[in-house]
Amino acid sequence: MECLFCKIVTGELPAKITYQDDLVIAFDDINPQAPQHKLIIPQKHIATLNDLQHEDNELIGHMVQTAKMLAKNLNLADDGYRIVMNCNAGAGQTVFHVHLHLLGGRQFIWPPG
Ligand code: AMP
Ligand code: ZN
Repeated sequence: MECLFCKIVTGELPAKITYQDDLVIAFDDINPQAPQHKLIIPQKHIATLNDLQHEDNELIGHMVQTAKMLAKNLNLADDGYRIVMNCNAGAGQTVFHVHLHLLGGRQFIWPPG
């Protein structure tokens, strides 16, 4: 198994895990782009957003709900935060296991780079 994030799911690779349940794991990004930068990943391997199936609707909803919950716990909810999912190389995806970035603790600009 070559997938980096599957290795975090199995515990083969260490990560600073801040939340875990039956469907998802959230951990600190190793190269944070903001004072708070968490990654929320499904325990199940899905390579890119293009591979999502109808049956994954609940899972994706749960990832967003997890981001909302973590943002509240990290006191980001009122000031604001950003969630990002990059799909494929053109958008900057480097790890091919679907993940949701939760970024907060600083001012963001739009459009993103
Ligand atoms: P993306 O560019 O959207 O595919 O995001 C991949 C993210 O995974 C990047 O922000 C990396 O810093 C992060 N990352 C890569 N390897 C690890 C790791 N072992 N533990 C935590 N985060 C990682
Ligand atoms: Zn994987």
